[in-house]
Amino acid sequence: MKNYGIDIWGDNNFFVEKGLVKVNHGCEPSLLSIVKDIRKQDFKGPLLLRFPHITKKQITTLYSAFNKSIKEYDYKGSFNAVFPLKVNQLPNFVLPLVQAGKKYGYGLEAGSKAELILAMTYNNMGSPITVNGFKDKEMIHICFIAKAMGHDITVIIEGLNELEMIVEVLKETGLECPNVGLRVRLHSGGSGLWAKSGGINSKFGLTSTEILEAFELMEETNIHEYLTMIHFHIGSAMNSIKPLKKALREAGHIYAELKNLGAKNLTSINIGGGLAVEYSAYERTRFYSLTEFANDVVFTLRDIARQKGVDEPNIFTESGRFISAASTVLITPVLELFSTEYELDHLNLKDKNPPLIQELYELHRDMTKRTAYEYMHDSIDHMESLLTLFDLGYIDLQDRSNAEILTHQIIKKAISFLEVEDYEELKRIDQNIQEKYLLNFSLFQSLPDYWGIDQEFPIMPINHLDKKPTRSASLWDITCDSDGELPFDAKKPLYLHDINLNKEDYFLGFFNVGAYQDTLGMKHNLFSHPTEINVVFDKDDNVILEKILESQKIEDILEDIDYDPNEIKNILKSNLPENLYKDLTIYLNQNSYLKTIWSYYDE
Ligand SMILES: *Cc1c(COP(=O)(O)O)cnc(C)c1O
Repeated sequence: MKNYGIDIWGDNNFFVEKGLVKVNHGCEPSLLSIVKDIRKQDFKGPLLLRFPHITKKQITTLYSAFNKSIKEYDYKGSFNAVFPLKVNQLPNFVLPLVQAGKKYGYGLEAGSKAELILAMTYNNMGSPITVNGFKDKEMIHICFIAKAMGHDITVIIEGLNELEMIVEVLKETGLECPNVGLRVRLHSGGSGLWAKSGGINSKFGLTSTEILEAFELMEETNIHEYLTMIHFHIGSAMNSIKPLKKALREAGHIYAELKNLGAKNLTSINIGGGLAVEYSAYERTRFYSLTEFANDVVFTLRDIARQKGVDEPNIFTESGRFISAASTVLITPVLELFSTEYELDHLNLKDKNPPLIQELYELHRDMTKRTAYEYMHDSIDHMESLLTLFDLGYIDLQDRSNAEILTHQIIKKAISFLEVEDYEELKRIDQNIQEKYLLNFSLFQSLPDYWGIDQEFPIMPINHLDKKPTRSASLWDITCDSDGELPFDAKKPLYLHDINLNKEDYFLGFFNVGAYQDTLGMKHNLFSHPTEINVVFDKDDNVILEKILESQKIEDILEDIDYDPNEIKNILKSNLPENLYKDLTIYLNQNSYLKTIWSYYDE
């Protein structure tokens, strides 16, 4: 795996040069230089770097692919897209997105009342808004208000009751009716983890009987001319294009049938989201290109329209992951390598040591390149025996400590002998010679999909890449939860560098974290959101660090979970001498992440 698979997942957004990961844009700054600039302003702990230029690139790529297909196939419908707010609602992401999408008429999709309010407030007027998900009458009322505000809004109906609510709101308010879409419950399902978003057992959408009923009801209540859209969404992260083609055929025919039944303003098919992003550093998992995807959509819809003799529909997409994932990089400082506790100067041998310990000592002393592998193996065996002896009471704590130090030092020494020529040999015992890296972040807060659904994310160091990574690595976060770990996986091994953190810094980047992670993250152990920064480039291609949003203060975290900060302060104040209380208030005003010691690192 060269350069941590950056050629597979990186999409040319980043590249490696002189041992550093660099941004392939503007003045091509290294991620390390950005991180150092931010840390100089005393923002320690994990950092979430957002790159609005990558979001913009994704929007542009999406529109160009579809518009090219449309031209190529001489397609009569238009291409339209909205961003599903569910995927990332945070202002530092959304506001630049809205700005970047303006010239395309890129709109927003909302799935809840709060998201709808965001869409109404920030959507570029004239760009479409679509509304999905379960709704009550209040939510539908908000859609009417959005329409009155001048928005091009389409309420997508998940069930017949929602249609009845529309008719009621129309009667009660006398406001103009927004456009209406019907979400169809497909016979064909999706693929991948999220297949339950599509398919006949789906949580969402109308069956064919309900679609016919819905249209009848619309005719009876005289709102049929507001029916403009057929919608489906077969699930997130489609790894193959085949289920989409089936879904398109199904939805295309429903569209054509409804048109032939008299739905004269039905003009659009909304194909939902689901465009996949490459997360793997080892092999490609997405088996189609965007061009193929666009061509398939355009070709299939044209084919059906011709077959049924109806107008070719306008195409809407709601891809979220594709637009947002690559735009965000999580940077975590490495706080500690566990083997540093095993430095030789802590070795405290006795005048007379147990024989196995004496042997460990000799293995370490006498190791040569030729014997490195064998001695390392022996030392691991000895260590196991010594642990058993400890449990049985035959050796004491000092012996055990000596054994651990010697074994770790033997492994380190062997690796330094073997790393150049016998690297493969070394890999065979990866599992046994792992190094644990303690990272200043919370996996629950920053990578919830890893915790919840085993989602893989590309991981790589952002510096030291000119050296060979020799340690098979497992990663630990700073929560007090044993699930806060990314264990070493021999099938997808991660190798990191052996670093002396007293001399230099080491940072790991987690890439493609811009989709879903931000608001899914949880405050387990009361670690809140990392410090966020938008990295933008001015017209001379220089870096500007914008919208720095510091990780929440402890006081605010506590208030967020409904404690009264004044009460907390009063209780502490009345129980502490004044000077200690004063010291404590400084901490209340800081975030929960650990402060790494700023070392004398010079680039
Ligand atoms: C979640 C969702 C999307 C976005 O899916 P992605 O896989 O992120 O592209 C689009 N439309 C609907 C209706 C959704 O529920």
